[in-house]
Amino acid sequence: MADVIVIGAGAAGLAAARELHDRGVEATVLDARDRVGGRAMTSYDLAPHPVELGAEFVHGENVATWSWIERFSLETVDDANQPVYFTYAEERLWNATDAARRPNTAAVGSIEARARREAERRGPDYSIADALGTWIDFWPQDPSDDDVRLLRNAFAELHAADLEDVGIAGILEATYAGDGDRTHCRLADGYSVSLGRAAQDLDVRFGAVVHSIAWQEDGVVVHAGDSHFESKHAIITLPLGVIQSGEVMFDPPLPAEKLAAIESLGAGNIGKIALRFREQFWEEDFSFLLTTLPTQLWWRPGEGHRGESPILTAFFGGRDADRFGKMPHD
Ligand SMILES: Cc1cc2nc3c(=O)[nH]c(=O)nc-3n(C[C@H](O)[C@H](O)[C@H](O)COP(=O)(O)OP(=O)(O)OC[C@H]3O[C@@H](n4cnc5c(N)ncnc54)[C@H](O)[C@@H]3O)c2cc1C
Repeated sequence: MADVIVIGAGAAGLAAARELHDRGVEATVLDARDRVGGRAMTSYDLAPHPVELGAEFVHGENVATWSWIERFSLETVDDANQPVYFTYAEERLWNATDAARRPNTAAVGSIEARARREAERRGPDYSIADALGTWIDFWPQDPSDDDVRLLRNAFAELHAADLEDVGIAGILEATYAGDGDRTHCRLADGYSVSLGRAAQDLDVRFGAVVHSIAWQEDGVVVHAGDSHFESKHAIITLPLGVIQSGEVMFDPPLPAEKLAAIESLGAGNIGKIALRFREQFWEEDFSFLLTTLPTQLWWRPGEGHRGESPILTAFFGGRDADRFGKMPHD
């Protein structure tokens, strides 16, 4: 019997199990899939360099990921142009300088200071859409449909939700202020390698779809498929959506205040598409491209890597992600 069962072999579960392993505590990790990493998954088939299909960047110099980067001596790559934003609107491409000269695009930059004031006045959950409705001077010029689309897409890809669903305080949380200069750094060998290293020497069981967690006087019994696992303690790192779905039964049921907290949290949707082209048709200084299209934000997954392949990644959130997610995969 393991001392601890860790449910989920994503970054959170592996971090917990690794920490226990380092301290000589025996842990068994259970995951429904046949691989570690969860929402981090690297493709090594699309290009000579890694292409991230899930988590891609190490966002800032304060994040915990750096402790693994140092521990496992992982190499990192910076994109030379980070973050140079091009814009596609009114059926043309604007480079970063031209886009900044568009009065309505520049206005979006002032949103953070406004959001701070609004969050103090109306509370953190006042929606960005409602706030925009009251900021009559927000747009220096009458906004075109594309201005509005750009704004919607800028928020949807950043917050994984539409303007109506994001509280004004979300804008303040999602800035990189104080995170250092390296807000878009990648792992040279990909996230899958780093998570694979973290999983080394751990007891990870794959294909273990947990469906019930029963607490008893002397420990816990976790049921996964037809098997069950016993231990003294359990650490649950299941995604919020899985817990909210009720697919995993808790016995005794979770206390009311915990359930209320789980229900009051929201997780948005994001999606990614990687497209490989015959040749690179973009300028060398292109890094990010914000568009008015449902595919929202584009970038070069190979930027900074040696022998960059002509691949672009689209990254989108909110209702566009819902829509793409429901499309058939073949
Ligand atoms: C497209 C995309 C891009 C992202 N980009 C970035 C980025 O650039 N930088 C960044 O820092 N973060 C990024 N993130 C977020 C990051 O990927 C996640 O925050 C992180 O991977 C979550 O780790 P986790 O361990 O909490 O959850 P998960 O990785 O989701 O792990 C949970 C694990 O639980 C398992 N599981 C689910 N249900 C069961 C069950 N019933 N029984 C057993 N196991 C189960 C799953 O298989 C999974 O392995 C991105 C996420 C996505 C989806």
